Order: sequence, then structure tokens, then C-alpha cells
Amino acid sequence: AKSAGGNRFELADAEADARAITRHGLTTALPTALERGEFFIEYQPLVHLGDGSVHGAEALVRWCHPQHGVLGPDRFIPLAEDTGLIVPLGRWVLQEAVRQARFWQARHSDGGPLRINVNLSPTQLHHPRLVADTVDVLERSGLEPGALCLEVTESALIGADEDLLKPLRQLAEMGVDIALDDFGTGYSNLANLRRLPVSVLKLDRSFTRGMQQHPVDPVDLKIVEGIVSLAHSLELAVTVEGVETGAQARRLRDLGCDTAQGWYYARPGAPDRIHSLLLADAV
Ligand code: C2E
Ligand code: CA
Ligand code: CA
Ligand code: CA
Repeated sequence: AKSAGGNRFELADAEADARAITRHGLTTALPTALERGEFFIEYQPLVHLGDGSVHGAEALVRWCHPQHGVLGPDRFIPLAEDTGLIVPLGRWVLQEAVRQARFWQARHSDGGPLRINVNLSPTQLHHPRLVADTVDVLERSGLEPGALCLEVTESALIGADEDLLKPLRQLAEMGVDIALDDFGTGYSNLANLRRLPVSVLKLDRSFTRGMQQHPVDPVDLKIVEGIVSLAHSLELAVTVEGVETGAQARRLRDLGCDTAQGWYYARPGAPDRIHSLLLADAV
């Protein structure tokens, strides 16, 4: 009876679990989760499309919930945004990721060109201490500002006025790179790119997906080609997200994209993984 019932129990448990993970439950658990150290960061390498060498890594936060197991950011970042917890959480991610990057650099005696990418949510962007906190984190870790890239979504910057852009401009002047994340999904005015203090475009996964088709839709090709040439004429680097196959990687490289990120190279993982990739690059 135990084995037959066991499966049914598991199923019932799973259903109960899904019901239990309510918005409310997660929201109230968020503040203590930060105090209890339940968040952790996975790192996904960014590679040069030319030779596949590691360019840097993006920090992606996860929540190891005591009852529900590991939850992805899509489950809790929106809740943290709504409650304002995103500010201390985001500060923790920045601090932790920068510390980690500094550690990798110290381990690779050439100081390595390794860069660390950290996501910024709209609330953080509006926070009056964004610049001061970032400067503080960089100074305390000893990481040079040029090794940090802050990723801001295109939609967060649509219609942004000078007041919103000013902190980003200040960070850019210090040498911090600003990347426009999920680019191509926000219907932003391409001409507007010129007034944004960004140095990297992260082309959204939807474009990468198009590059997987056989044959590739000629219109999709033209669009990516156009974006890359516009970006390069504005001296912006182009990163592609969601590269899952070698064929995609080759097409995107041939189209002139600079760096890539995706399962084809590596899934997000523990910091050790980046360390071994760097060691492999060095030989
Ligand atoms: P994002 O910034 O666009 O991050 C890329 C997402 O694509 C990550 O999902 C990553 O795991 C996933 N991904 C990477 N390579 C591939 C691939 O080849 N194929 C597919 N299908 N997916 C791939 P993840 O880790 O679930 O993060 C989701 C979103 O949560 C991120 O999207 C970002 O917007 C947000 N996020 C993650 N960490 C943070 C954080 O520390 N702060 C803030 N504000 N947002 C974060
Ligand atoms: Ca991102
Ligand atoms: Ca993205
Ligand atoms: Ca995304």
C-alpha cells in the first residue's frame, strides 16, 4: 500500500504546494528570507562570439525557500518590486556579485578582463542612493568600475526623462557599463538610443530564437543585421541572449554580434563553474 499510495501522496503534495505558494505567502516571507540568507546567486558566462572565450558573467538571483525549494526570479522579483524589498535585495546581489568578481580576478593573476553583469530593477533605478551605494560597493571590494555592467531593461527606460537618466549617466562617466536588457521587446525609438548612457545592447531571446529556424526568415535576418549595424555605428556592443545551438551562435557571429550568453555555452550555475571556465581559457 505504501508504494502505490506514495505516488498519490506526492501528487497531492505537489498540488497542495502549488496552492500554498501564494503571492501573499511569498510576499510576507520575503523580508525574513533576506535576513536568513535564503537568496543565492547563479552565474552564467558571457562569451566572445569570435573565439568562445569568457568575457564575463551575469548574476542571476534565486531563492532557496525552506518549504518550496529553489524559486526562480520570475516568481519573486515582481513581488520584491511591489513591496520595495528589491532595494535591499538588489543591494545584496550587487555586493555579492562584485565581491565574487573581485575574487575571480584575484585568482587569475593577470587581473583578467572578467566582467560582472548585475540586473537593476526600475525601483532601484529611481532610488536616490543608487550612485552612492554602487560607488560604495565598488570601493569596498576594490573592483574597478569598468568591470561592472548594470543591466536595465529597455522598458524601464522608455520615455525616461533627464532626472531618471542622470544617475545612470554619472555611473557611465565613472566607467560602469550600462546595458539595455531585453532589447527589441520595448518598441523604443531607435533614434532615442543616442541620448541614453548605454554602451551595450542585449538583444532579446526572441531574436535569437528566430536564428534557429531552417532556413532563417530573411526578414528576421535583416532586422538583426540592421540592429547590429545601428548599434555599432553608435559604438555600442551587441550581446545576444538565449543562444541554445551552435548554428545560432555561428549565424549571430556572422551577423557581427560581439558576445553571447545561453545554454549552448553554459547554464547559470555555481561560481566555481566560472572559475573553471577561466582556468580552461588560460591554457
Ligand atoms: P534576464 O535578465 O533576461 O536573464 C536571462 C534569463 O534567461 C535568465 O533567466 C537565464 O537563466 C535565462 N537563460 C539564459 N540562457 C538561456 C537559454 O539559452 N535559453 C533559455 N530559454 N533561457 C536562458 P532567470 O535566471 O530565470 O532570470 C529571469 C529574469 O529575472 C532575468 O531575465 C532578470 O530580468 C530577472 N533577474 C534575475 N536576477 C535578478 C536580480 O538580481 N535583480 C533583478 N532586478 N532582476 C533579476
Ligand atoms: Ca539581464
Ligand atoms: Ca535579458
Ligand atoms: Ca528576459
